[in-house]
Amino acid sequence: MTRNTVQRATAPQAVGHEMCQLISELYPICRSITGDGVRQTLKILQQHIPLTVREVPSGAQVFDWTIPKEWNIKNAYVKNSQGDKIVDFRKCNLHVLNYSVPIHKKISLEELKAHAFTLPEQPDWIPYRTSYYKEDWGFCLSHKVLASLAEGEYEVCIDSTLRDGYLTYGEYFLEGQAQDEILISTHVCHPSLANDNLSGIAVAVFLAKHLSRRSSTYSYRFLFTPGTIGSITWLSLNEARADRIKHGLTLACVGDSGPINYKKSRRGDAEIDRAVLQVLKDSGEPFEVNDFSPYGYDERQFCSPGFNLPVGCFMRTPHGTFPEYHTSADNLDLIRPDCLNDSFSKCSSILQILENNRTYLNLNPKCEPQLGKRGLYGSVGGTTGGKARELAMLWVLNLSDGHYSLLDIAEKSAISFEIIKSAADALLQNQLLEALPRD
Ligand code: ZN
Repeated sequence: MTRNTVQRATAPQAVGHEMCQLISELYPICRSITGDGVRQTLKILQQHIPLTVREVPSGAQVFDWTIPKEWNIKNAYVKNSQGDKIVDFRKCNLHVLNYSVPIHKKISLEELKAHAFTLPEQPDWIPYRTSYYKEDWGFCLSHKVLASLAEGEYEVCIDSTLRDGYLTYGEYFLEGQAQDEILISTHVCHPSLANDNLSGIAVAVFLAKHLSRRSSTYSYRFLFTPGTIGSITWLSLNEARADRIKHGLTLACVGDSGPINYKKSRRGDAEIDRAVLQVLKDSGEPFEVNDFSPYGYDERQFCSPGFNLPVGCFMRTPHGTFPEYHTSADNLDLIRPDCLNDSFSKCSSILQILENNRTYLNLNPKCEPQLGKRGLYGSVGGTTGGKARELAMLWVLNLSDGHYSLLDIAEKSAISFEIIKSAADALLQNQLLEALPRD
């Protein structure tokens, strides 16, 4: 690939639009924690990145959990006594309680209501509900429709299968110079919901594409797994190598217009937590950072005490705090190309910090070296940028005693990591610094 192609492909606004296109393509698919919806999704992702599809059989034990039977669905509807479809899965796949067992019978309105899920406070929206680990059936519909139904007989049909099969997930490994890995994980089990979590899938895919075009120190592992059971499965199959993960992010709800919301890893002061904070502070935009809590996405598994991996959760508006969450209103109108692009570019800046966070040794530690005679002082006469870089050089020289990394120096000096890094590069070029080996 030529340099021009790379630049074109990663032009900021273009990436946002390309992510929107991918999301629109994935949106109609009925996904779940197992089944053909996930397979079809991963197949589409393979057009972008050469990920490996892995299948783990039903019944397999993964820590305290068992891989469930595989669920697939062809069709579902509710017909009134005139034969009119009042609920049609083919119009919206949220209409079926996800993982419903097959059923085809005539029932009373009362029984239908006992298996119906609605949102009285949002009467036009269809809720998203699941019943993965308890065999049940049900329909999700707008409260308006349910309230309009007359007494009488209703035909309910769910043409689904729940049989021994597989749990499917996608894994893409990008080898770097080191064995140490950065993990990017995202859940792929939700049906037609855009922000939660086609947005996370799209940002992960485009980060993977972006990283595959450059050389990296770290190796990168991208996981596209069904929520909870998928990360538990991966950790169970890869327990022996999990400690290679030195930094990680789970991505969820990253396409809406809210500010970035980051949930720290369980460790709270991991390098990933500090790198995210650097990027968010440096952006000058509003953001929110919260301590770890054992509720959320797959960071719960990566941060379980037996692993305690440094994995945080990168979101915009978090789960449960936007009204459209887990409803039919989490549709393509909720996500924006500029917001997807902003999530993508902040994640790449975070990864850039991790890639570049080295510890250096000042080779001229007795008093300050004379920067002027090396053309390093006042070389950018009076510009603010020049001053910041000179100040950054003084910080880097003073703190590079082998104990402070560039990220430490950026934090202590309140100068952006980018400027600290560029100051270190200039000092390195002038033989004033030496890079220490990575731990
Ligand atoms: Zn969700």
